[in-house]
Amino acid sequence: MFEYAPAPESRSIVDIAPTYGLFIDGEFGDAKDTFKTINPADEQVLAEVALAGPEDVDRAVAAARRAFPSWSALPGSERAKYLFRIARIIQERSRELAVLESLDNGKPIKETRDVDLPLVAAHFFYYAGWADKLKYAGFGSDPRPLGVAGQVIPWNFPLLMLAWKIAPALATGNTVVLKPAETTPLSALFFADVCRQADLPPGVVNIVTGAGDTGRYLVEHPDVNKVAFTGSTEVGRQIARSVAGTGKRLTLELGGKAANIVFDDAPIDQAVEGIVDGIFFNQGHVCCAGSRLLVQESIAEELLTSLKRRMTTLRVGDPLDKNTDIGAINSAAQLARITDLSAIGAEEGAERWSPPCDLPERGFWFAPTIFTGVTQAHRIAREEIFGPVLSVLTFRTPAEAIEKANNTPYGLSAGIWSEKGSLILAVADQLRAGVVWANTFNKFDPTSPFGGYKESGYGREGGRHGLEAYLA
Ligand code: NAD
Repeated sequence: MFEYAPAPESRSIVDIAPTYGLFIDGEFGDAKDTFKTINPADEQVLAEVALAGPEDVDRAVAAARRAFPSWSALPGSERAKYLFRIARIIQERSRELAVLESLDNGKPIKETRDVDLPLVAAHFFYYAGWADKLKYAGFGSDPRPLGVAGQVIPWNFPLLMLAWKIAPALATGNTVVLKPAETTPLSALFFADVCRQADLPPGVVNIVTGAGDTGRYLVEHPDVNKVAFTGSTEVGRQIARSVAGTGKRLTLELGGKAANIVFDDAPIDQAVEGIVDGIFFNQGHVCCAGSRLLVQESIAEELLTSLKRRMTTLRVGDPLDKNTDIGAINSAAQLARITDLSAIGAEEGAERWSPPCDLPERGFWFAPTIFTGVTQAHRIAREEIFGPVLSVLTFRTPAEAIEKANNTPYGLSAGIWSEKGSLILAVADQLRAGVVWANTFNKFDPTSPFGGYKESGYGREGGRHGLEAYLA
């Protein structure tokens, strides 16, 4: 294979402070405890970050409550100005943010630069456009904001999940307390600085950092009116229980185990690109990843030969190298989970294959992996691995493909590859998944709603539908 010379982006583009406080009422302030955030690619400490306790969360919610009357009373066109300003600052500072996100998360700079950051800015632009048109969004003639939104997000798309949560909340006149994940707090703290640069009134956005307990204080806080959570189904269940009967509104975006279905008339090379994008994009840390490949039996051999050939060209390594396709696994804990489930896949009899690949010595790494000979009973076909691991199953008829695709407790996304439009529409109609991609995969757009069926959660984010979760 033709070898590329290293093309690393400079780390010095972004200034990372040695310590970060909590962002409450427009100011950064200390907390009693702290925790460290590391670069998963080399395990070096990036910064020490405040760990918010119950009193800190209380102060943040109180600040958001104080800010609510004047923020919600602003004309929509005024709120839009702030959101447009935030979007433009994000564009201006996107190189810094892309480097920061790659350092804290481990994802390749190619993705932060070309996918995460453009989508983050697009979300703010999109919801800025809605702020003065809420009356025409189809939710009544005088839709009202709910109040204080408590938002908890995961580590796989830290800044993008922040944008999905904060942009619609602010556009609709709510104020926010957001908690980023404990392994990736830095881009949310950078965003706090963006809010100050945009002159956003103090208290409209508050960022509290910490682990699961901090999230729990936030979602259980009695003065929060709306809870928005993205993360694992297990934590989502706990939150649903704690919110039940309180009158708080709740949206949950949880896990997935998506089927990527390839029919025998699909263009193989394009399907292979879609399969690779579906499971190896962002190291497979994607809730809607195409982690189950369902391929029609008659083309299985040909497709797997092409897929393996394509996988040997994937570059795994330094997230800051512009040629890297697969970066570091986000944490030691996530690496352990991927390693364990993959070992179970082999023990249960599936055949494991990875291309030859040199993994760096330090940091958390996992080679792109496929399992063939997988049956529906295997744990790797049922459980979310949330890593660069693909389970391959076969089918003979469309009916069998649909049955296998729907045989999961999840229902977030699915993909269909075929040349026949009528087949695509007929199959899509029968898939129990929130998003169905046809002849593509992992395509996101702020105008299009996203969310799940069954244990993948409820409520929609994005598009006009995304406004509904923040309006009474
Ligand atoms: P997680 O549920 O462990 O953590 C998510 C967030 O919740 C973190 O900020 C964490 O600190 C916080 N948290 C943990 N325990 C909590 C509690 N008891 N109360 C309140 N907050 C708590 O999930 P994770 O490991 O960070 O993320 C991976 C999971 O997220 C995967 O299962 C993935 O499918 C899912 N995910 C879903 C979507 C989606 O849109 N549906 C998007 C991204 C990730």
